[in-house]
Amino acid sequence: MAQAIAVREGRILAVGSDADMLALAGPATRRVDAGGRTVIPGLIDSHMHAVRAALSYSTEVNWIGAHTIPEAMQRLREGARARPGQWVVVAGGWTELQFAEKRKPTLAEVMAAVPDQPVWVQMFYSHLLLTPKAQEALALSNASLPAGMALERDAAGAPTGWATASIVNMSALFDKLPRPTYQDNVAGTRQFFTELNRLALTGVVDPGGFSIYPSQYAALLQLWRERQLTLRVAYSLFAQKPGAELAEYRDLTQMLPMGFGDDMLRFNGIGERITIAMYNNNQPDAATREKFLEVARWAAHEHMALTIHWQEDASAPVLLDLFEQVNRETPIAPLRWSIAHLDNASPATLARMKALGVGWTMQDAMYLSGDRIAAQAGPAAAHMPPLVTALRLGVPVGAGTDAHRVASYNPFVALQWMLDGRTVGGRATRGAEETPTREQALRLYTLGSAWFSFDERKRGSLEPGKLADFAVLDRDFFGVPVAEIGGTVSLLTVVGGKPVYAAAPFALQ
Ligand SMILES: [Zn+2]
Repeated sequence: MAQAIAVREGRILAVGSDADMLALAGPATRRVDAGGRTVIPGLIDSHMHAVRAALSYSTEVNWIGAHTIPEAMQRLREGARARPGQWVVVAGGWTELQFAEKRKPTLAEVMAAVPDQPVWVQMFYSHLLLTPKAQEALALSNASLPAGMALERDAAGAPTGWATASIVNMSALFDKLPRPTYQDNVAGTRQFFTELNRLALTGVVDPGGFSIYPSQYAALLQLWRERQLTLRVAYSLFAQKPGAELAEYRDLTQMLPMGFGDDMLRFNGIGERITIAMYNNNQPDAATREKFLEVARWAAHEHMALTIHWQEDASAPVLLDLFEQVNRETPIAPLRWSIAHLDNASPATLARMKALGVGWTMQDAMYLSGDRIAAQAGPAAAHMPPLVTALRLGVPVGAGTDAHRVASYNPFVALQWMLDGRTVGGRATRGAEETPTREQALRLYTLGSAWFSFDERKRGSLEPGKLADFAVLDRDFFGVPVAEIGGTVSLLTVVGGKPVYAAAPFALQ
C-alpha cells in the first residue's frame, strides 16, 4: 500500500509517499491527482478468447449485464437498427438466470424485436434460437436441423422455439454466418480492447478458440504494427486440423518461435486445444493418447508453453500421466504448461500439477453456470473451484473469465464471484474454506495471471522497474461491500505509462 507512484518512459520509477514522489518530479512531469482513489495494477485475464471476441465486437449484440428480457430485446432492436438488412447475432455470454424473468426469451419476443432481419441467439454452446429469416438464410428448417442438433421441447412436448446443440455443431453452423469484414475486425478490436481497459484490464492471455483461424489475426497484427494496441496480448495456437495437428504446429511455428513478439503482443505457445481428438475427451484411447504425446513431446522440445482445456478431475490423471511421461524426458516446469478450467480439481490433482510445475487458469464459469453445476455436483460444489487449496499447495494460479461465448469478460464480476461464490442468480455455491481474501483475489488477477505469459517480473504489481500498467478505480476495492465490487469501473487506465482509457474527472486532463 502506497500513496503515490512515479512513472518514467513507460515504467514504474518509484512507489512511495506523496512527498517522496513529488521530489522526483521535474518541470516536464505530468502530475495526476488520483484524489485518494484506489490504484491497482492493471488486471490480466489469464484465459480470455479476446482476439475472437474483438473480431465481431462492433457487429454483434451482447446481453452481458442485461437484467431483464425487455432490456435484452432493446439491445436486439438497437443492433438491428445499427445494421439494416444484416444478421443480428448474440453469440453467448449470458444465461436466463440473469434475467428477472428467469427464462430464455421466446421466439415470439425475439421476432417482435427484430421482425425483418435474421437473428441468431446462442446461450453458451448448448442452446440456439434461429428466427425463420435466419433459418431461411442458412437453408434450414425445424425439420432439417444439422446433425447433433435437436428441437428443445417444453414439459408438454411442444417446441420452445429453441434448439439444443453441442459446441462442435454450434461452431460449425456459426461458421456459415456472414463474417464481419476486415474493417469490422479492426473497429471491433479497437472497441473491445477499450471496453476491457474501461474495466481496468491491461492484459490478456488468449487461448485461441473455435471459429477463429490464423488468417483472422490480421486485424490484431495491424493494430500492433501501428502501435495502436491498448491491451497486452499473449496468444497461443489452437489446433484446427484433425489428426494433422503436429504438422500444423510445425508449419505455423517455423518462423514463430516461442516468446516471439514484444511486450504488447507475444506468441505464447500452443493451446487450449492441443489435439482435436483429446478435446473434451475423458476417455482417450491408446492411439489418441499416443498422438497427443507426440505433440506434447514436440512442444517440450521446442520450448513451447502449452495450455489445455480440461473439465473433469476424474479424468485428469489421464492427462497428468502424459505430462509426467514428457517430463521424464524434458522437464516441463520451465515451460509453464497449464490446465484451464478443471473447476472440480482435487487436492491430489493439484499436488501432481504442483510437482510438475504446471499452472492452473481458473475462471468464473460458475458465475453464469453455477446453479446447474452445483445441482449436479451436490456438496462437492462448496469446493468448486478449489481456489484456496490450490494456493495452499503452491500451484501457480491465474484468474480470468473464458469470455465471451460462455462468460462475461468483466473482471470485477469475476472478482466479486471469487469473494462471495454467488452465481448471477444469487445462489452461493462455494464454501468459506475456498474463499480467498481480497488481496489474494487481486493478486491472482494480476501477478497470478502474469505468470502464464512469463511476465510476473515485468508486470502484475506496482514495483520499480516494472511496466507502468495500472488503473484508478471508481471505488475502493478493499473497502466497499463485496456485493459492490462487481460494479467497479476504471476512471483512468494506463498501459506502459500511456493513458488508454479515461473518464471524468480524468478525461478532461
Ligand atoms: Zn476452454
